[in-house]
Amino acid sequence: MPFLEFSNVDYSYPSGDDGYIQALKSVSLAVERGEFVALVGCNGSGKSTLARLANGLILPDYGVVSVDGKSTAEKSNLYEIRKKIGVVFQNPDNQMVTTIVEDDVAFGPENLGLPPAEIRERVDWALDCVGMRDYATSGPTRLSGGQKQRVAIAGVLAIKPELMILDEATGMLDPDGRKEVLDVVTRLNRKENMAVVMITHFMEEAAQADRIIILDRGGVTADGGRELFQTPEVFTRAGLDLPVYVRVAQRLKSAGADIGCPLSVQDFVAQAARAVKGGGERRD
Ligand code: ADP
Ligand code: MG
Repeated sequence: MPFLEFSNVDYSYPSGDDGYIQALKSVSLAVERGEFVALVGCNGSGKSTLARLANGLILPDYGVVSVDGKSTAEKSNLYEIRKKIGVVFQNPDNQMVTTIVEDDVAFGPENLGLPPAEIRERVDWALDCVGMRDYATSGPTRLSGGQKQRVAIAGVLAIKPELMILDEATGMLDPDGRKEVLDVVTRLNRKENMAVVMITHFMEEAAQADRIIILDRGGVTADGGRELFQTPEVFTRAGLDLPVYVRVAQRLKSAGADIGCPLSVQDFVAQAARAVKGGGERRD
């Protein structure tokens, strides 16, 4: 049984007097425990709607969203579901609810009604995980965007979710901030076996995931491993860019270099080095 499962999910928002906007149509997908999935798509493709459906903030019009086999449509399941799935949103400034970092991180576990000693332990652990322990008693104004997002991640972590969804959580950060957040999430995935759904429009970030799901106008148009980059048209058709190294490889290939579609920067470097050493002869 998949950990998170969407089966034929439709979702519409009301719009105008009696009209509606269909944000998702017939979406089926599954995320297993411990997986690192990137969810990519243009603005308006339905990514945030999917994130809200995943932890039961909104309910499908049709189809079923289930977490650990339990449907979000059943009210009595929601408390458990929200403990299992944590969501980090885009704007770091809207996520801090208190004025001190450690109080903010304690907010989730306090709401779970945990004993104070356990709250303390979780707060320290979560701040350690994101490398923000030294800032425990700081106020948010002293923090950079990347640091604020790491605090937001710690707040979600303190609930000890099995799956963390980051809804363009790096979208407002500079490249250093993006890297900080991506490093933290990758480490949590590998070390703590926390499943991650990273919603992003940065293809370099998406390429770090084990699996990539492409959403286009409310529907899933591709779902696969990094080998998806070997069919670049699935990205371009959905209005997405390709990672820079994939684009460079394509240009080199059309200039006659013996190079395929690299699956990572390291792979690109290895292939390019081989092509240079081989004197540019085509293998095909
Ligand atoms: P993404 O996160 O990929 O940008 P969204 O899930 O936010 O996409 O939006 C999908 C579609 O639903 C878009 O057409 C958007 O305009 C519409 N939409 C999103 N949120 C609302 C809302 N609260 N009310 C009405 N329409 C919405
Ligand atoms: Mg969005």
